[in-house]
Amino acid sequence: HPGPPPPLRIREVTVRFAGLTALDGVSLTVAPGTVHALIGPNGAGKSTCFNVLSGLCRPDAGQVLLGGTDLTRLAPHRIAALGLARTFQNLVTTGTTVADNLMLGRHALSRAGYAATALRLPSALREERAHRERARELAELVGLGPHFDAPVAHLSYGDRKRVELARALCLEPRVLLLDEPVAGMNTAERARTADVVRRVREALGLSVLLVEHDMALVMRLADEVTVLDFGRPLAHGTPEEVRRHPEVLRAYLGA
Ligand code: ADP
Ligand code: MG
Repeated sequence: HPGPPPPLRIREVTVRFAGLTALDGVSLTVAPGTVHALIGPNGAGKSTCFNVLSGLCRPDAGQVLLGGTDLTRLAPHRIAALGLARTFQNLVTTGTTVADNLMLGRHALSRAGYAATALRLPSALREERAHRERARELAELVGLGPHFDAPVAHLSYGDRKRVELARALCLEPRVLLLDEPVAGMNTAERARTADVVRRVREALGLSVLLVEHDMALVMRLADEVTVLDFGRPLAHGTPEEVRRHPEVLRAYLGA
């Protein structure tokens, strides 16, 4: 993908569950190459927003646009193929190696059919080698190079979370959705993950939308912050602007 990533635009998105409005006309734009943080108290609608973006939840109203492409009613695998990849918590298969996990991500992009691969045709083997090389590069980018052939079960918690990140990168996204990337990590692992996210953004030139409870991390990593409260955008701005916003202090910090 040459050139900057396309902007990701969420326009007036509303999601209702029986008797409850989880998102109420939410708009936000992730500008090309930036890190945008989505914060807010529990139940504010952050996960619902990620589910809409990745095609797991259909909005009752509104649109999601990646550049000029409308993603609103596409299936999750189509959205991923168009350049929007996300991480989940606790999805890594621990029974296999880091390389195997990353190759699962690469196979989603694979052009050679399963038959060609099974028949060990030269074209399929060449493609397999190229995918493996790219998977190794991405593992190195997130600091997993030394563990490429190690079983995931032997890795630390922090490294396992980085396998999840590398697997999303194997889809060659233009925009990366990170769902609480440092949840459960200790202070040293949190700092390391922040460095990794910064390095990934610079090396691959992608944009990041981040849901995170760790405010220190948000303040360090984000270019822009959107605050949700009861499904509505409460504030938007730079980390400094948002931190001083009186309504944010009231809703988020209980001041
Ligand atoms: P956050 O991630 O910010 O904590 P969520 O997006 O998970 O918030 O939830 C927003 C609101 O929508 C909450 O009140 C939650 O209980 C409700 N909700 C989320 N998913 C569902 C669902 N599948 N069915 C019914 N209510 C839901
Ligand atoms: Mg949530």
